[in-house]
Amino acid sequence: MTRFSALNLFTKALGGHKGWQEQWPTAEPKASYDAIIVGGGGHGLGAAYYLASKYGITNVAVIEKGWIGGGNTGRNTTIIRSNYLYDESAHLFDHAVKLWDGLSQELNYNVMYSKRGVLMLAHNVHDVQSFKRHIHANRLNGVDNEWLTPEEAQAYCPPLSIDPNARYPVMGAALQRRGGTARHDSVAWGYARGAASRGVDIIQNCAVTGIRRGPDGAVEGVETERGFIAAKKVGVSAAGNSSVLMQMAGLRFPLESYPLQALVSEPIKPVFPCVVMSNTVHAYMSQSDKGELVIGAGTDQYVSYSQRGALHIIEHTLASICEIFPIFRRMRMLRSWGGIVDVTPDRSPILGKTPVPGLYVNCGWGTGGFKATPGAADLLAYTIAHDAPHPINAPFNLERFRTGRLIDEAAAAAVAH
Ligand SMILES: Cc1cc2nc3c(=O)[nH]c(=O)nc-3n(C[C@H](O)[C@H](O)[C@H](O)COP(=O)(O)OP(=O)(O)OC[C@H]3O[C@@H](n4cnc5c(N)ncnc54)[C@H](O)[C@@H]3O)c2cc1C
Repeated sequence: MTRFSALNLFTKALGGHKGWQEQWPTAEPKASYDAIIVGGGGHGLGAAYYLASKYGITNVAVIEKGWIGGGNTGRNTTIIRSNYLYDESAHLFDHAVKLWDGLSQELNYNVMYSKRGVLMLAHNVHDVQSFKRHIHANRLNGVDNEWLTPEEAQAYCPPLSIDPNARYPVMGAALQRRGGTARHDSVAWGYARGAASRGVDIIQNCAVTGIRRGPDGAVEGVETERGFIAAKKVGVSAAGNSSVLMQMAGLRFPLESYPLQALVSEPIKPVFPCVVMSNTVHAYMSQSDKGELVIGAGTDQYVSYSQRGALHIIEHTLASICEIFPIFRRMRMLRSWGGIVDVTPDRSPILGKTPVPGLYVNCGWGTGGFKATPGAADLLAYTIAHDAPHPINAPFNLERFRTGRLIDEAAAAAVAH
């Protein structure tokens, strides 16, 4: 695989950018693999990459029903942060943030991780108390998070209005400086290229239609639109479709799938230096390198598998954005879209083994799994390779919904983009 370098780019540019190698070959499914990953999002492709690069398991296929990165990976607003309340969550998400650092170098692929800081606005006394609690808890876990006064928040993000008479007055903000954004497509493509160069087959346009189990109950392989493919280890990383896939193996999962929407504005000159989130009003925003304001909304209230959401949800988000950032009131929106997010009762993911031997799962990331991509991928690969969870993902097991040992970020954060 050709390495990308400044010299390489320069010489290829002189030749009209002809002669670049295919980034990952189009693979035909083999009859069997050592491991299969269902779902070609960042999590699934990353897991295949780490299986090959860290554990030497290269006889692996990633099976994707559409095109890689076409699910939530390519639809999200790319906010990265790790300032979650509970110890388990802080360790999990900070594991990912540490991997984001250096990911471009590791993959030799620019994932454009930009540590521009994530500002979470507090609009009422409850927000202030809850964010301060987060800040103290984060510090105990070595996760950076600091409190800003309204004036300090505005200095960090000049378009922010701190008018005390506003409907959503800004009473302060929590800032995680290591938080930021990354380029979502690059993450999928970088992992795909890295995995394929180590021998992983990336099979697109091939839906998994069944999970076959043997007489002992263990996994034997997957049924697909292109026939049966055998594997003793199958990892499912299918985001909004996870419960459907688990049902194929006879398992009922505590997941609900909701549409979640995002939208972008017309492009403007750089004006918005960081990421701002307002969980109370369900609006969050950053500016892309192309200049568009990237805006995220809340989930629909109804479960659905359609990759589009209701108009009133984004209308509500834009109304709030116009009040918090009056400078943007006259801007036009260009596009909106939706993805399907899989939500657990405690709003924390499920990442580990399942009751079916040889079947592993990574799901329930809901509205906030992009930030976890490298960490989730790494831990899923570890779990598959060792047939046991890593200490970081051990608490995120399925059994917690039976034992009651929940990691209740729902109550802690209400929303977790
Ligand atoms: C609008 C929106 C905004 C968001 N904003 C943020 C954010 O700012 N920050 C953040 O951290 N997270 C955010 N998220 C959540 C984040 O996008 C997801 O948690 C994360 O991308 C999940 O990655 P994944 O690789 O698990 O899933 P996906 O990228 O969805 O990959 C799963 C893949 O499985 C495939 N698949 C499904 N069924 C089958 C089958 N039967 N056979 C084969 N393949 C199958 C799908 O086609 C899909 O490509 C947002 C999500 C949305 C929708």
